Amino acid sequence: MTMDYFDYDVVIIGGGPAGCTCALYTARADFKTVILDKNPAAGALAITHKIANYPGVDGEVGGYELLEEIRAQAIEFGADYKQAQVFSVDVSDTQKKVYTPAGIFRCRALVLASGAMGRGASIPGESEYLGRGVSYCATCDGAFMRDREVVVVGGSEEAIAEAHVLTKFASAIHWVTPKEPTMTNIHVENLLAHQSVKLWSKTRLLEIEGAESGVTAVKVLSKGREPISIAPVEGVFIYLQGAKPITDFLGGQIELKPDGGVKVDDMMQTNIAGIWAIGDIRNTPFKQAVSAAGDGCIAAMDVDRYLNQRRNIKPDWS
Ligand SMILES: Cc1cc2nc3c(=O)[nH]c(=O)nc-3n(C[C@H](O)[C@H](O)[C@H](O)COP(=O)(O)OP(=O)(O)OC[C@H]3O[C@@H](n4cnc5c(N)ncnc54)[C@H](O)[C@@H]3O)c2cc1C
Repeated sequence: MTMDYFDYDVVIIGGGPAGCTCALYTARADFKTVILDKNPAAGALAITHKIANYPGVDGEVGGYELLEEIRAQAIEFGADYKQAQVFSVDVSDTQKKVYTPAGIFRCRALVLASGAMGRGASIPGESEYLGRGVSYCATCDGAFMRDREVVVVGGSEEAIAEAHVLTKFASAIHWVTPKEPTMTNIHVENLLAHQSVKLWSKTRLLEIEGAESGVTAVKVLSKGREPISIAPVEGVFIYLQGAKPITDFLGGQIELKPDGGVKVDDMMQTNIAGIWAIGDIRNTPFKQAVSAAGDGCIAAMDVDRYLNQRRNIKPDWS
């Protein structure tokens, strides 16, 4: 399979308040900028029902709506926005490479802003069968599931969108949700309208079972029932949210702090020149939309200096 290449000055991974603010500044400074975002509804701000402490915004506003405004402002200044999940990066060269199902993005400046809604593999069988049926990305792995039965775990907008992707391929989708999904949500309605989708609400995934070939079955527990097995199942797509910095796609190439957050200097630059980390991915004690946006601004200013090689020039006002 051939992959498309896209060249940018600045690639930003994550379209939350940190990433979109950074893009707003770098695009406005005339750098060719792209935001690569797994899902605009999946980040911490996007799932915040109401926010009342964002400066300059009067009263309460939905987190998703506020983020839409910041993103629109970045796009207005010339940034591209692409919905794509980053699954790995190669930072061994001055030109960094970012791998997604939509293609490979090359850049001189890379900004990490994927937030802290991640989780470690915690379900028995999850890490054992990761890549052999267990996946976190339907766009990446859905096509392997043609005419097979799969399980999608989670009730978030992201889980719903990913289950939609799987309806193109899988013969049956067992949708396992810890709570009852909101039946009036149009996306839920559309998903359940597919004959291949079977809802297992108020159900927990207990275990992923498999063999040499990969996943073969899952064990689930529905409220008030005995545990049962769903089989045959060959794919398990997990979208449960946690509170861990999302750094798995870095493959250990960037230095992290003992708490799992990415380590940066005062300019938000990581241990590798040309790579910055902003927002919740740093795992700072105070995670707020405004501080994530502030990080984005600082990184963008430093990206400007780096790309223009003006690192030694001090601004007049410092
Ligand atoms: C329930 C809740 C309530 C909150 N209430 C408030 C509040 O009232 N006021 C306030 O100021 N703050 C609040 N916060 C905190 C605030 O939302 C976060 O600090 C802020 O959103 C962090 O911004 P971020 O850009 O770093 O990450 P996020 O907003 O989490 O955005 C990260 C983005 O990266 C994307 N992403 C993740 N992995 C990948 C990948 N591999 N490839 C591509 N994209 C990826 C995600 O889809 C997401 O769009 C709240 C948080 C939560 C969870």
